[in-house]
Amino acid sequence: MSAIENRLTEVCDRIRRAELQYQRTPGSVQLLAVSKTHSAATIREALAAGQCLFGESYLQEAMAKIGQLRNQPIEWHFIGRIQSNKTREIAENFQWVHSLDNPRHAIRLNDQRPAGVPPLNICLQINVDAEESKGGLEPDQAGELIALFSQLPRLQLRGLMTLPAPVQGVEQQRIAFRRLRLLRERLKSPEIPLETLSMGMTADLEAAIAEGATIVRVGTAVFGPRNTKR
Ligand SMILES: *Cc1c(COP(=O)(O)O)cnc(C)c1O
Repeated sequence: MSAIENRLTEVCDRIRRAELQYQRTPGSVQLLAVSKTHSAATIREALAAGQCLFGESYLQEAMAKIGQLRNQPIEWHFIGRIQSNKTREIAENFQWVHSLDNPRHAIRLNDQRPAGVPPLNICLQINVDAEESKGGLEPDQAGELIALFSQLPRLQLRGLMTLPAPVQGVEQQRIAFRRLRLLRERLKSPEIPLETLSMGMTADLEAAIAEGATIVRVGTAVFGPRNTKR
């Protein structure tokens, strides 16, 4: 077994154990392997071990890997800060975006999503603990952006994402994730069920699963420490 295969097995075990512990439907939490700073060869190893969803934060770096891994059965998720001048590459090369937080980017992604491929799946990034430095919508801005989606047929709004400040201990970690879950309950409608909650990383995936995560975004536990030289 390769090191990555071992780690993937461990992470999947963590997810399954948390699903059981918190009475979640078995298999209801998907693993998004966050491969930023790791090579295409490393991604191939994870792919060989059965992992198909990969998350990237830096567009330049992601584009190189997507090029090297064309024709592989990979679903690419963009999870980084969106820059206006990069929306076309995102719209053309990814299946999901987790980090949408403003209407201008939504309109650009919609206009630039190529015809002939399915709509781009979108999660709105919510700044649940109102950290100054961080991307994401304030919770009470989300309703307005959601309303815009009726005019954006090339985007499919799937749910909400958050990246809370790191805290210690499951009970403390659950607070921010609970805020996202409750916001989803408030905002969802029959037309827009917001079924996806993208939350939880290496250090806090159990807390996220306890609060209803449907996608956990895990880097370090899958690939080991990140390469600092990109
Ligand atoms: C890097 C990153 C992750 C993964 O973090 P780990 O702690 O390595 O699991 C998840 N989500 C986002 C948005 C990230 O940038």
